[in-house]
Amino acid sequence: MSCKGCSRSIIVSDASIQSLIEEQLQLEIDLVDDVTYGKRLEICSKCPSLLFGHTCGHCGCFVQFRAKLSYKNCPYPEGSKW
Ligand code: SF4
Repeated sequence: MSCKGCSRSIIVSDASIQSLIEEQLQLEIDLVDDVTYGKRLEICSKCPSLLFGHTCGHCGCFVQFRAKLSYKNCPYPEGSKW
């Protein structure tokens, strides 16, 4: 499976992803609690659609960002996993 946006391999450091996510989350107010966030990421970590350890192959989002937003759900085609 390739990324939704392109078929290239994406090399991004964990530190860069975390910095980007923290910056973007400062603009958000509707966030889930840490327990819910952890459960969502645990599900993503076992999902065959997770690419490069950080990108959802269906929406192209960093899951570490999407999972923190209470108004988002999992876009898995056969049914949302969270
Ligand atoms: S399909 Fe859902 S569970 Fe799988 S990586 Fe995307 S958001 Fe996570």
